[in-house]
Amino acid sequence: MRKRILLLEDEQAIADTLLYALQSEGFDVRHVRLAREALAVFAQTPPDLALLDVGVPDGNGFDVCRAIRKTSELPIVFLTARHEEIDRVLGLELGADDYVVKPFSPREVCARVRAILRRSATGLQATAGASPPPVPAAAGVLVLDEQAQRITCSGEWLALTRYEFLLLATLLRRPQRIFSRSELMELVWGGAPHTSDRTVDAHVKLLRAKLRERGLQAEVIQTHRHMGYSLRLP
Ligand code: CA
Repeated sequence: MRKRILLLEDEQAIADTLLYALQSEGFDVRHVRLAREALAVFAQTPPDLALLDVGVPDGNGFDVCRAIRKTSELPIVFLTARHEEIDRVLGLELGADDYVVKPFSPREVCARVRAILRRSATGLQATAGASPPPVPAAAGVLVLDEQAQRITCSGEWLALTRYEFLLLATLLRRPQRIFSRSELMELVWGGAPHTSDRTVDAHVKLLRAKLRERGLQAEVIQTHRHMGYSLRLP
């Protein structure tokens, strides 16, 4: 079945090039110009992935993302124009999966979309897979359930975005091993272009905040100067 993509973009020229590129790749694209239209489409026919422009005439992509995240984990990619916007995408707990900076090539956007959809498909396969590991990876109170693709903290699910999950799962599978930032970029983000040390650091910061909320010390994820990060066993 063709994958459905919701495209929120108010600049017609940008929307046109994206529409053309995505449709040429066989995606079923629904284009809207306004935040409220995006939410209406999301409610009627939930897409497989959403591409959200940040600045639109009746609001912004952040609010659309927040509204979608209340009920759905569908992959969300921001189309951003300015660096302040990128900081917000990374810094706020919006639960976005990725972002693309304008001006971008439609090809780059298509590549990201394919990569993200492939990753979500792999996640589903892993869930349905025949042989989940018998013993979950655990580091004290944190337990990775590979089959459910979720992590519990003291027995309760952690609400994590896709990348937060992938990052923490990577660290949890091999506690105490130090992962360099470039290793994490490869393992977690699949070497996606525009991923930088800053992306890794920003996500570690978000994870630490979530772990702190659950009463864990933030240092459960340890920083090793000039080397990277590791998960500390209690
Ligand atoms: Ca715009």
